[in-house]
Amino acid sequence: KSIVIAIDGHSSTGKSTVAKKLAKELEYKYVDTGAMYRAVTLFAMRNNWLQNGKVDESKLVKNLSSIEINFEYNPEAGTNDVILNGENVEKEIRAMEVSEHVSSVAKIDEVRKKLVEIQKQLGEEKGIVMDGRDIGSVVFPEAELKLFMTASADIRAQRRYNELKEKGEDITFEEVLKNVKHRDEVDSNRKNSPLIQSEDAIKIDNSELSQEEQFEIILN
Ligand code: C5P
Repeated sequence: KSIVIAIDGHSSTGKSTVAKKLAKELEYKYVDTGAMYRAVTLFAMRNNWLQNGKVDESKLVKNLSSIEINFEYNPEAGTNDVILNGENVEKEIRAMEVSEHVSSVAKIDEVRKKLVEIQKQLGEEKGIVMDGRDIGSVVFPEAELKLFMTASADIRAQRRYNELKEKGEDITFEEVLKNVKHRDEVDSNRKNSPLIQSEDAIKIDNSELSQEEQFEIILN
């Protein structure tokens, strides 16, 4: 039987890693909603609507209809890449500069409305794993399985730091930790669909779990 699996939680808790693995194992579709907020952020950055941590909200909102977001299967990665107006931006959206601004963009009501609508459409056909911040609460409140993932900020920052270093980003651990904490704060305190654990979600603190251990728990 195909179901909807909603995975929410804090930044850098390994949501997408486990979501991809689950989708592969169950032959489900995988949707990374963080990638969608990142793509909108990249669009704003390219238009110079993001400066000194501030978003020109009215310009972005006025031009939302010219943003088209799709996913395309990448056989090499075995998962979906995000496509912004026809261009594969999967690599660019992972840059630290995008991470620094994404929470400010994700706070905007109109941005959330547009992306939630696309996400709901993508989930019309069951057999889907979707990860983000508000999947179990707003996008699919009726999801059959809801997971809420967390881990200590230090551990999450260390994992993200290792990843970024591997990609050759010039960055310090302190900068990454600051970003992780900043996103937790903004994501948890925004007025519109803040990051909260749904009552019916299963909480997984993976501070002390290996990826394999965690995967086994979820699969069971
Ligand atoms: O999952 P990821 O860390 O890539 O998400 C980037 C940012 O996008 C989050 O910090 C959050 O601000 C925003 N986001 C959101 N709602 C979602 C997914 C992501 O607000 N469903």
